[in-house]
Amino acid sequence: MSSTRSYDVSYDVIVIGSGITGAALGYELAVRGVKVLLLEQNLQAPSATRYSYGGISYWAGTTDLTRCLCAESLAIHRQLSEELEASTEFREVPLLGTVDLGQDPDAVLKTFKTCTEVPQLLSPSEAKTLEPLLNPDAIEAAILMPYAHINPIQTAQAYIQAMVRLGGTQRFDRVVSVTSDTAGVTVQGIEATYGGNQAIVCAGGATRALMQDSGLPLRQYFSHAESIETDVSDLQMQTVVMPAEIRRFALESVAAQDDALWTEEPNQELVPPILDCGALQFADGSFRFGQISRTQTSLRSQADPAASEQWMRSQLAQLLPKVAQLPGRWVTCTVAFSVDHLPLVGPINESGRLQVLSGFSNPMALVPATARRLALQLIASQPDKLLTALLPSRFV
Ligand SMILES: Cc1cc2nc3c(=O)[nH]c(=O)nc-3n(C[C@H](O)[C@H](O)[C@H](O)COP(=O)(O)OP(=O)(O)OC[C@H]3O[C@@H](n4cnc5c(N)ncnc54)[C@H](O)[C@@H]3O)c2cc1C
Repeated sequence: MSSTRSYDVSYDVIVIGSGITGAALGYELAVRGVKVLLLEQNLQAPSATRYSYGGISYWAGTTDLTRCLCAESLAIHRQLSEELEASTEFREVPLLGTVDLGQDPDAVLKTFKTCTEVPQLLSPSEAKTLEPLLNPDAIEAAILMPYAHINPIQTAQAYIQAMVRLGGTQRFDRVVSVTSDTAGVTVQGIEATYGGNQAIVCAGGATRALMQDSGLPLRQYFSHAESIETDVSDLQMQTVVMPAEIRRFALESVAAQDDALWTEEPNQELVPPILDCGALQFADGSFRFGQISRTQTSLRSQADPAASEQWMRSQLAQLLPKVAQLPGRWVTCTVAFSVDHLPLVGPINESGRLQVLSGFSNPMALVPATARRLALQLIASQPDKLLTALLPSRFV
């Protein structure tokens, strides 16, 4: 790396990765007067935020910690467009959680008993009344829940633009390593070397590999998500349709059981892939549907795009036949997660100069408040009581 330029500018905090997580944190730091550098390898990179549906299941908190973060995040979402002076496309929309044929609706209902909202059980014909695009013959029942939605790309961009207006810096460079000593942190990019007081890694699915390359192993994992992005359509969907029981969470739990499998054999599939069949519509009229999740331990996707597209379209054809026929593109990216479905938030070395904010299984419902609390904690140099439960050291 001797050919790279060295920036003599020293930042208070260098944030690595500008998906929804890094973008929110960069803004929350800049708005509090912190001199922040947001490093992103490439805005066109296939990030999870780029392909996210943007659904906010704000009732999904099941503990004091997650209930509090969900409530705070919802309050932030509700006024974020105004605060950032750019639209996040926040809207409230009903969620239809589909119960598969043969599944016991009461057993499904019970899985929501610790959530902050109690779902309403609907018959297939009642569900069809709410969502005329739905084929009622494809489901045993449905649950009705409140839900909210943002455009994740616009939200991340709105955070970043506000950060830049406040004096923060955004730079494009791929980080290859992060080190720290008593004087500060050194973030080594392909283009340049950056110096700062602290660095916070928000690199999504790439966080584990980046930290491993920097000699700091982290118990964070990733799945490969695949979905279809359609062209703008005249079809109008009234609700968001998702399985009542999301299979991805069970897949993540199993795949994260043995950390060694992720390190010792970097190119294997740990659990058979799953499909969470559902769809939603963005404000511009385009749809997102899918979604396949695979636990392959290589960061490079090994999926067969044609076979995956066929799988997603044929499943959706039973549920939402008109949506399944829309022209669209297969897309894939990695999505970070941890074994307990909670993010890793806080120091990853003794000095606290290197920190992480990554691995949310339910990020749109949790990131705004978590990023705000982390920013406040960094400034106050005092632990936030809620965030201590999310320390990466909980897995040691
Ligand atoms: C199809 C799909 C649907 C989803 N639906 C929902 C949903 O409805 N609700 C919900 O809450 N979540 C959903 N998710 C999950 C959610 O989108 C992600 O968990 C979230 O966007 C992750 O944000 P992030 O900032 O942590 O990571 P990312 O968005 O992946 O951002 C990480 C960034 O770091 C950059 N980066 C990585 N390595 C480096 C490096 N070495 N140097 C510099 N930059 C680097 C990347 O380029 C990227 O921009 C969905 C995900 C997918 C794929």
